[in-house]
Amino acid sequence: MVVIMKPGFTQRELEEAVRSMEQGGVKVMISRGSETTILGAEGDARGLDEEKLSQLPGVERVMRVSEPYKKANRKYHPDDSVIDIGGGVKVGGKKLTVIAGPCSVESETQITAVARAVKESGAAALRGGAYKPRTSPYSFQGMGEKGIELLLEAKEQTGLPIVTELMSPDQIPLFEEKVDLVQIGARNMQNFDLLKKVGKMKKPILLKRGLSSTIEEWLMSAEYIMAAGNDQVILCERGIRTFETYTRNTLDLSAVLAVKTLSHLPVVVDPSHACGRAAMVERMSMAAIAAGADGLIIEVHNDPKNALCDGAQSITPYDFAALMPKLSQVAGCVGREL
Ligand code: PEP
Ligand code: MN
Repeated sequence: MVVIMKPGFTQRELEEAVRSMEQGGVKVMISRGSETTILGAEGDARGLDEEKLSQLPGVERVMRVSEPYKKANRKYHPDDSVIDIGGGVKVGGKKLTVIAGPCSVESETQITAVARAVKESGAAALRGGAYKPRTSPYSFQGMGEKGIELLLEAKEQTGLPIVTELMSPDQIPLFEEKVDLVQIGARNMQNFDLLKKVGKMKKPILLKRGLSSTIEEWLMSAEYIMAAGNDQVILCERGIRTFETYTRNTLDLSAVLAVKTLSHLPVVVDPSHACGRAAMVERMSMAAIAAGADGLIIEVHNDPKNALCDGAQSITPYDFAALMPKLSQVAGCVGREL
């Protein structure tokens, strides 16, 4: 349940509404938006007296919320959330954020070359996997801690904040210290224990949509992180499994719109994993911006043919440089900027 305050309510009226909700047995989340202030009930709202609450001075109306996600719900927080990922980079709001880099960190020369190139073209952050969730145990598993060190070196040279995937709770202290934006991959989207633990981190989380997860399941995973105390969540649509096999996954662009309606959290799109084909990345990136995404995460490799992971979907720094001005044009058409 949410209680919507009247414009111009007094502090005393606010306190009275909060007290009355607390007496009904819930915790109260106060969201002060640009136009309205909303009191969201956290916990079991059955003890709340809707009639009584709606008659309090200062209260405009009371609304039942049927969705199971609360903190992630736009009804609890009408304004768009803007998430700071460090280095002056924000995700959400008018300005779009493009994150770029290889699927995996492979060597110092590779990551620093890609980092410099994407920075030059206007990327706002650098991605690169150090711990890789591979389907086969015989495939390259990532460089681990050494990979994080190399990302930090690339960060030092370019100033780009770094984004990398966390796979296990053991990695939390390392990531807390060294990583700017912590990625939770599609395969771990419903690893609820891990979600609770990253919910205790002080770092923003990039939560990828699970391979076969509904929008509501995805938002419930965001809710796990937020309920544990970390409200710095960015959602990432990365394609879902369908019957189609031509593309690696099916990019669900309508999910961007759905999630922007249902939630206040920013959403970025990963066209690389969605399509699995480098040739599709440009147009799908443009389409994602047109659909209202707050940014993109794109795989860029200096030598895609010899990449240790996801070469087929990786574009070159040259392609990336050509893509950015096109994204900027699309952004202008939808009232955004790059
Ligand atoms: C990745 O970003 O390299 C990755 C493994 O993504 P996903 O979890 O979306 O498959
Ligand atoms: Mn990848």
